[in-house]
Amino acid sequence: MVENPNVVNVKLPNHNYKILIGSGLIDSVTSHLEPHLSRDKIVVVTDSIVADLYLDRLKKNLKDGGIKCESLVVPSGEHSKSWEVLTKIVEWLLEKRIERDDVILALGGGMIGDLVGFSASIVRRGVSVVQLPTTLLSQVDSSVGGKTGINSSHGKNLIGTFYQPSLVIADTALLKTLPRRDFLSGYSEVVKYGLLGDLNFFEWLEKKIDCFLNVDPTIINSAVRKACMAKCRIVVADEKERGERALLNLGHTFGHALESWTNYSDKLLHGEGVSIGCVLAFRYSKELGYCSYENVDRVIKHFKSAGLKTELTDIPSELPDAEKFIRLMLNDKKVKNGRLNLILARCIGKAFVSENVCVDRLRSFLVNELDYSS
Ligand code: NAD
Ligand code: MG
Repeated sequence: MVENPNVVNVKLPNHNYKILIGSGLIDSVTSHLEPHLSRDKIVVVTDSIVADLYLDRLKKNLKDGGIKCESLVVPSGEHSKSWEVLTKIVEWLLEKRIERDDVILALGGGMIGDLVGFSASIVRRGVSVVQLPTTLLSQVDSSVGGKTGINSSHGKNLIGTFYQPSLVIADTALLKTLPRRDFLSGYSEVVKYGLLGDLNFFEWLEKKIDCFLNVDPTIINSAVRKACMAKCRIVVADEKERGERALLNLGHTFGHALESWTNYSDKLLHGEGVSIGCVLAFRYSKELGYCSYENVDRVIKHFKSAGLKTELTDIPSELPDAEKFIRLMLNDKKVKNGRLNLILARCIGKAFVSENVCVDRLRSFLVNELDYSS
């Protein structure tokens, strides 16, 4: 059954758009798209796994609503965020004679959202893109905020643009087919919003965790809406990441170092790096005297109750030594002039940017953490 969607209005200085959230929205997609179409034609780009699950259904709904649709399917997986696949998409869009007033629909997770958003931003100097995110991570994080891009041999997401979508349609019913581990990994980013700026939201998640894990539609819809609102508030205040937007990196500098150490393999998914990273950020905050042990304990308990990784020993791999760990952290693209900024916390719901972190102090913290883990 298609419900009336929840709506989050994103109001940026030069661009407004809506995020629609609800279960079954893919079946009413035509009515949501119509205000954005200048003619009865749309192009869809998706990945191979999502295509098998949802492309026929989407196409049928569009056809029933009188919209012609052509589609391009790219291989599923992070390796598709490449120059090669970008070129393929852009050339295909031009071959399909896409015009400035047309709409490109990005159907898939964050990989598709980033890749198709980037393609839309450069083809004919910018064509509208509508995001139909299909993973929890993309519904609560990557489809909000307008960052697009592909990976380079120099690192992840180093080539890209800021390009806001015209509309986001987050159909939470699609999350039912998501592998459990991907679903949980996306949940880390949901928790992160509570940890960085909203104790009430964190407490609500603590109470609702069982319903969330059972993919209860009412709870999932509320959680996605609250998470989108949290990200929107930050993005609206700081669209181009000059200040407050950095708070969204809570847990990420530690997490990215661990993801890089495990070669972005399935030993550690992004969200698992984030849950371990958030625990490390809270433990380090406690060590520096910013936050209490009770807060650290509560963060760990919640991630554990969701079945997420919290400790370095949860990673099925040898661990780096502290020096290597620091070097990986310093490689993070958030490092400016060799200075490491970390997101730390005064308590749950109050994170802050700690500039120019003392690397020696951090090293001895990591030595201890790694000692406990060996
Ligand atoms: P993803 O898009 O690769 O999807 C993960 C896997 O799930 C893929 O195999 C995909 O085919 C499959 N899948 C997608 N939807 C499904 C569904 N409903 N049912 C079953 N399987 C489904 O990964 P992701 O975790 O969604 O996103 C990760 C990407 O997002 C990374 O490239 C990351 O850099 C990017 N990202 C971008 C931002 C941003 O602000 N732009 C923020 C965070 C992450
Ligand atoms: Mg993230």
